[in-house]
Amino acid sequence: MSMLSNTKQGSVTVEAAIVLPLFLVAVIAVGWLMKAAAIEEDMGFAAMNEGRQLAMTAYNIDYNPLFPVTTSAKIAKCKEGVRDVKIRDYKYLYRDGELDNLIHFSVSYETDGGLPFFDTVLSPKLQFTLRAFRGCDNRGAASYEELEKEQESEEVWVFPRYGERYHSETCSFISVYPRKMILNAGVRRNYDSCKMCDSGGIENGHSVYCFKAGGAYHYGSCPTVDKYVVRMEKRDAESRGYTPCLKCGGG
Ligand SMILES: [Zn+2]
Ligand SMILES: [Zn+2]
Repeated sequence: MSMLSNTKQGSVTVEAAIVLPLFLVAVIAVGWLMKAAAIEEDMGFAAMNEGRQLAMTAYNIDYNPLFPVTTSAKIAKCKEGVRDVKIRDYKYLYRDGELDNLIHFSVSYETDGGLPFFDTVLSPKLQFTLRAFRGCDNRGAASYEELEKEQESEEVWVFPRYGERYHSETCSFISVYPRKMILNAGVRRNYDSCKMCDSGGIENGHSVYCFKAGGAYHYGSCPTVDKYVVRMEKRDAESRGYTPCLKCGGG
């Protein structure tokens, strides 16, 4: 055997000795990444489900401090090999620019890497932002899309007794005042009766007053109802002498 072929053979062996373990590590690493991605997907799905529940039930819950605790316990159970689940950055019914009633939270957890040689711990962080359902209008339960549509149709809000201006749905001048609406099943779904004014006796079809923030429906005589706003067509508002709000432009 010549020197040359010996050297060649030797170098092939050396190459195999280096390449094969690297190849195996790469295969294991790809498997590990796929497993980690699957865990992340499942965790994201579970967290999103909880977030959706929270958003859907928000219409009569003004304050929900327990969500991080209950949710982290719940989603920790749904996936094996996951521990130290934490819900952080939790914000409930906050406003960001034009959008109100937002919910935000992030989920972090730890999971073992599963690599044989390394003590790898993976700790991803998933972020969620949702819009809470707080719908309330003349027809009762309205989705966010419906409210958006109504803004497109030319409806505005006015103070029937005191006002001279008409306002958009989102104007902060009107948002803190109760809205006059007709009591129906939709309103009953979103609001309770008021103990202060004993509004439980009101029958469907009669006027009630509801705050956008939720709570109860009221008689006009309830101490919580001072000024109130009504919805009307913009052209009706204009023909009655109302002019656009200087702040919101009347929508
Ligand atoms: Zn306004
Ligand atoms: Zn009341």
